Amino acid sequence: MTKELLEKLCCPIDKHDLDANIINEREDGEILEGLLSCPECNRYFPVIYGIPILIPDEYRDESMEKPLLKKWGYELAEGEDSALPLLAESER
Ligand SMILES: [Zn+2]
Repeated sequence: MTKELLEKLCCPIDKHDLDANIINEREDGEILEGLLSCPECNRYFPVIYGIPILIPDEYRDESMEKPLLKKWGYELAEGEDSALPLLAESER
């Protein structure tokens, strides 16, 4: 995924612009791993192998995403009204 594409992405839930945290980037600027987060609804969306995982809640697999975020050094908090893990307060 390129930075140009990244700028065009928005939250699939509320269409808000996403904040990007790039974890792993190739020399040509291709983003391989990263974390996109929505300041509006506080959802996060991982970028894995260059692919942004922008999918609705019902298709997401928390058990697959959590170990990855831990590897990247993120602390996750559970949202009370959401089945999805949300970014911890310190990451907002
Ligand atoms: Zn959102």
